[in-house]
Amino acid sequence: MPITVVGSIAYDTVKTPFGERQRMLGGAAVHFALAASFFDDVRVVGPVGEDFGEEQLEVMRARGVDVSDVERVSGGRTFFWQGEYGWDLNSRETIDTQLGVFEGFSPKLSESSRASDVLFLANIQPDLQLDVRGQLPDARFVALDSMNLWIDIARDSLVRAIEQCDCVILNDAELRQLTGKPNLVSAAREVLSWSPSEGGRGPRVVVAKQGEYGAALVTREGFFALPAYPLETVIDPTGAGDTFAGGLVGYIAAHPDEELSDELLRRAMAHATVLASFNVEEFGTERMQRLTGSEIAARIHELHAMTQFSGAPLALRG
Ligand code: AMP
Repeated sequence: MPITVVGSIAYDTVKTPFGERQRMLGGAAVHFALAASFFDDVRVVGPVGEDFGEEQLEVMRARGVDVSDVERVSGGRTFFWQGEYGWDLNSRETIDTQLGVFEGFSPKLSESSRASDVLFLANIQPDLQLDVRGQLPDARFVALDSMNLWIDIARDSLVRAIEQCDCVILNDAELRQLTGKPNLVSAAREVLSWSPSEGGRGPRVVVAKQGEYGAALVTREGFFALPAYPLETVIDPTGAGDTFAGGLVGYIAAHPDEELSDELLRRAMAHATVLASFNVEEFGTERMQRLTGSEIAARIHELHAMTQFSGAPLALRG
């Protein structure tokens, strides 16, 4: 099923203990699209400025991503984000965010972007997410990401946007902040209990990302968790969350005839975990640009082996 993603297309300046890059290609929609492109057709919707290069668009085109809904705003500047990581790569400091063309952005989706069955609302202002959601009323699977900023300043809109989605993908700290519940499972259950006041289905899947510790999946039926794929070298975690989402949503899109069972979601979690592990091995999109399907398949095989254990019965004392 074709996937439409709406979100930031950015220039990122990033410093980690292992090096730095100035104004490299980034943005939530870009990281998502590169990952999801391994599974299905992807269309990116978002604004860029006059400073955005053809070379950057080519990175997406080279992976078969449809960029015809990337809107070039004349006289505008591309969204810019600058971040810095210390030795704990799980936490980062945002040094600068310049909205540029995102200020006053009003998403206009073409007919083909509106025809997608699968929609990913990357981290943008929740009223914009709601607007886009409204433009794809018949989408079969809609997932959403957000961040602490919107929980702080636009929580009501964010809750309304979540109520219109099937799947919420958040960092575990954001999930606790959103719900005011200190426990991950009860926080996820709280989100799963939300539904639109005007009637409708409400979220059925919550994924809590836990950085280098992996990710947990909570549905009405069950719970599942995977560790992150163990890497000895992590260079730049920027975009890991969006790449994870691209793997998860992409895998679901590539199985249009399967119902959204926990079994399907577990396989999607494994693919998400593996895609994210490649993204963090190099700066920005560098690693994803060279990634191949067979590398993904090999790592899925390894992740499967390392998360198995046998149920050997033992007569326990007591
Ligand atoms: P992640 O590491 O998965 O949280 O995603 C990082 C990406 O999100 C970077 O490439 C940034 O360009 C982008 N980003 C950072 N802050 C924002 C924001 N406030 N709104 C939209 N995108 C952002």
